[in-house]
Amino acid sequence: MGFKDALFQGLAPDGGLYMPETIPHLGTDFFQSELSYPELAVGMIHPFTKDDLTHAQLSDICESAFDFPLSIKELNESDSVLELFHGPTLAFKDFAARFMARTMSHFLENKNNEITILVATSGDTGSAVANGFFNIEGINVIILYPSNRVSALQEKQLTTLGENIIALEIDGSFDDCQRMVKAAFQDDDLQNRYSLSSANSINVARLLPQSVYYAWAWKQNHETGPIIFSVPSGNFGNITGGLLANRMGIPMEKIIASTNSNDVFPNYLKTGNVEKRDAIHTISNAMDVGVPSNLDRIQNLFHQDVNQVKTEISSWSFSDKETKDCIRHIQNEFDYLIDPHTAVGVLGLNEYREKTNSNSKGVVLSTAHPGKFSDVIEPIIGKKITLPESLQIAMKKDKNSIKMSKQFSDLKEYLIAA
Ligand SMILES: *Cc1c(COP(=O)(O)O)cnc(C)c1O
Repeated sequence: MGFKDALFQGLAPDGGLYMPETIPHLGTDFFQSELSYPELAVGMIHPFTKDDLTHAQLSDICESAFDFPLSIKELNESDSVLELFHGPTLAFKDFAARFMARTMSHFLENKNNEITILVATSGDTGSAVANGFFNIEGINVIILYPSNRVSALQEKQLTTLGENIIALEIDGSFDDCQRMVKAAFQDDDLQNRYSLSSANSINVARLLPQSVYYAWAWKQNHETGPIIFSVPSGNFGNITGGLLANRMGIPMEKIIASTNSNDVFPNYLKTGNVEKRDAIHTISNAMDVGVPSNLDRIQNLFHQDVNQVKTEISSWSFSDKETKDCIRHIQNEFDYLIDPHTAVGVLGLNEYREKTNSNSKGVVLSTAHPGKFSDVIEPIIGKKITLPESLQIAMKKDKNSIKMSKQFSDLKEYLIAA
């Protein structure tokens, strides 16, 4: 199975997740050389895609996908925040979604067949995917999102594009949406009628671009040796990208999986058991995931041995109250506004420093622009925040969604009729 087939299939026929067979070690020379962000991306992704894309083709895709800036905000000598939210939908998912849309569209060129992308979202995936695939010929996108559990802004971003983007508003949780998408992929009837594909973090094409910014962050800091990354985690796709970057040669002291009250992963590190739970609703809603899909991939990387996992990953869970206090604290102390997801990441780094007394450089991945969560943040800091222009425009448009129950049969009926 090559990259191209895994890209279009999403899920393996046995329901499992695709994972690269081998992860090349690129060596410090490569990482220390002077490279633009797209060049860095090509260097890291090419080994995985070389059977299907030439270097020049991959280069075109990366130049066009990663045409927005990244930045690092230093809070103090040791701690900084890696701002991954300067793409069109103001969340880190733009990196993966734009890459995926451009690779798929590359492979579909000169072909007449249409494909349908099914994607479940807890908020930001949907808008990033919708935006990435908007108006790309031959691709229809159907987004499933949990009714009343995404912010007003996120909902507008999902439901106002139109054209080849359809939003299904599901009367259920994110886990229900995800279950429905998985069921569709395992349904022979649907598979025979449609070319279905997935854009969730279960798709291996989402993982590859999510390893690149870890390397970029390390390059900004590299004279200091291994660094600590703290990753606000829900479905654990982002952190899996970090683990890949580590295997490719980026020195890391520790990678911290910071979660909200959805604490299946921190409990797994404690007990060695994965206890399935339903998602709990929190203010960092893009991480409201019961059982993270990418847990399988993480277990695979560590040969199903939780003790090995613990050598590289630490994990803690934080409440909404801690998250709010953290937003307020960072605002007061550094005059810097972070969104609730990033705050969970900051809490994880603080916890790690308390437990270990480490002074190594620490980088918190900032996964969303605070403006996307103004409804949550404004009461916390007690003042209005100005929305970025792209959000102001989306807010003025009319929502356009199709309401649906959480029964898979309803989704199937809809797809067959469509
Ligand atoms: C999706 C998302 C996350 C969680 O990322 P995973 O890859 O699912 O762990 C964190 N923050 C924001 C803002 C997100 O949109």
